[in-house]
Amino acid sequence: MKWTWKTGKKLLYLTIPEWLEQGVTVGFSTRGGGESKEPYLALNLALHVNDNEEDVLRNRNIFLAEFDMESENCVTAQQVHGTEINIVLNKDKGRGMKDIATAFSQCDGLLTQESIGMLSFYADCVPLYFFNPEIGIVGIAHAGWKGTANKIASKAIQEIKLAGGLVEDTLVGIGPCIKECCYEVDVNVASFFKSFHNPHILQQHQDKYKLNLAEANKEVLISEGVPNENIVISDLCTACNPNLFFSYRRDGLTGRMGAFIRKRKEF
Ligand SMILES: [Zn+2]
Repeated sequence: MKWTWKTGKKLLYLTIPEWLEQGVTVGFSTRGGGESKEPYLALNLALHVNDNEEDVLRNRNIFLAEFDMESENCVTAQQVHGTEINIVLNKDKGRGMKDIATAFSQCDGLLTQESIGMLSFYADCVPLYFFNPEIGIVGIAHAGWKGTANKIASKAIQEIKLAGGLVEDTLVGIGPCIKECCYEVDVNVASFFKSFHNPHILQQHQDKYKLNLAEANKEVLISEGVPNENIVISDLCTACNPNLFFSYRRDGLTGRMGAFIRKRKEF
């Protein structure tokens, strides 16, 4: 199981082919191939960063077309670096896809057992993808340092268990995010990670710390009982790759990549 580049109809994006074989489409976009202008060049998928709205809606259609999806059959959320997770139902289709107001509010995680596309937005934060093939539930969660420290990954696993899924059957994809090479944090942020055990998660660097958010999320997942071999981490750093990815830490005002997931069949 591994993150793999795919050249689609118009775009290059990352996917997990083994999930597709099992009936779940996964995508993580790059910044290439869209219509937004600087500083959102080019495939900015987020409405909340003050980009031209029509460009963003066109970009969303370009991205969703890779998965034969239309925005009417997708949903998105207003991410707030919290740990709230919503269960998406068929009546929610279309929420947040053409405006911010109808998106799930104050919500950083979406789970569903329906065949609905879910889209969330990233420029350094960690995209967490969830798939339990036994009960056919899929999800997406947005984990910056706050969401990681407050264990949104753990909340998503709890929700999957509530839906009847076994943790040992649950697969998790951790997509591209800012890596420890580029993510220096101060003593305050570091203090939230002192209780983590893996020494590679937090490393002191002069009077600052290097923080590895992907590994921190992995530690949370493993502590919930997700088997190590069920977790696949992308090794790409969003800040190290300016031609591929938007990075808030690197650029400040910039666009957002999209993380997409949808189950394509009944389980
Ligand atoms: Zn880096």
